[in-house]
Amino acid sequence: MAHVDFPPCRLVSWPEIDRWSDLIAEKVRSASWNPQVIVGLTRGGWVPSRMLADRLGTKHLAALRAQHWGVTATPSGSAELTEELATRLDQKRVLVVDDITDTGQSLQLAVRHVADRGALEVRSATYLHISHSTYMPTYFAEEVARDAWRWFVFPWNYWEDLRTLAGKVRASDGMPAKEVQRELKARCLLDVPLSHVERALAPL
Ligand code: AMP
Repeated sequence: MAHVDFPPCRLVSWPEIDRWSDLIAEKVRSASWNPQVIVGLTRGGWVPSRMLADRLGTKHLAALRAQHWGVTATPSGSAELTEELATRLDQKRVLVVDDITDTGQSLQLAVRHVADRGALEVRSATYLHISHSTYMPTYFAEEVARDAWRWFVFPWNYWEDLRTLAGKVRASDGMPAKEVQRELKARCLLDVPLSHVERALAPL
């Protein structure tokens, strides 16, 4: 997805996260497969990987740092693994988890890296899979048609996304929060309470 200043957004709720986690765990179980290690891509896959580790009873959870979309809805060149795994994964069944595959580059790199660390078998999972992604996760909860592309505002990214987008729609420092709220709805399809806009506009 090219740089989008005012991306059409969709707020994701915790009940959806729970439902998607259950769905993926069910798919993994019905494939009669259970991972010995779960690798979560940080930051987007951090919470999803923990949710899946809980459901699948996996005790070994590791983090792999990938960077691609530095600022909300703005990809920065190509995906990069900026912190590699510290441990080897010799002979392990490993599930690599992220929140979404958009270009699919981050997940693809991560799967390759995990294989290079000696894993016996690597599978992958994301909550959402955009149909234009060049990489398809082994398991996903929902597919999103490329025409229905949205910037998904996950609960763990809510304030960061709101700060970025409120800053972008604010034409000047003096623009009242109420107007910023209206612009967020009109331009980004983001319907959020006024108190949240005020909080997002306040200095950190
Ligand atoms: P990609 O390498 O393009 O598959 O994207 C990797 C990461 O960027 C994901 O793990 C997300 O954290 C973030 N990301 C990319 N596209 C979106 C989107 N449409 N909505 C929300 N987050 C996204």
